[in-house]
Amino acid sequence: MSAGPAPAEGAADAHWLRRTVELSRLCPPSDTAFSVGCAVVAADGTVLAEGHSRRDDPRDHAEEAALRGVDPGDPRLAGATLYSSLEPCSSRSSRPLPCSSLILATPVPRVVFAWREPSVFVDCVGAERLRAAGRAVVERPDLAAGVREVNAHLLG
Ligand SMILES: [Zn+2]
Repeated sequence: MSAGPAPAEGAADAHWLRRTVELSRLCPPSDTAFSVGCAVVAADGTVLAEGHSRRDDPRDHAEEAALRGVDPGDPRLAGATLYSSLEPCSSRSSRPLPCSSLILATPVPRVVFAWREPSVFVDCVGAERLRAAGRAVVERPDLAAGVREVNAHLLG
């Protein structure tokens, strides 16, 4: 796997969120679901996994595609940051577990996302769920423009 700046507030977060936007451009097109990118990055900047929406299955969310590639026993997860271009979901009809639950099943202590999910399809409280469970959640709305651009056809 590749590597880059060590996750920390500020410039490294911006770097990795821009990477998730690039990943979201790989998503197969959809008129009914957002295109999202996700990267799980260790404390030293090593990329542990990447994913994007609909990568392995038409119903895949980016976070579950990325977490599928993570070894649950990898000790680096305890210091890792999960980056997602969109707020992790808190409910969904197509899978038994929303992405916020998949994240809470890992020891990943920190989640950074760019765009708070708009109420186009479902009300999302993913950030609140993660915070309530003790995870650090950082929202970077200053980087949301690229995410909105990728999903502009869904926003009417
Ligand atoms: Zn999701």
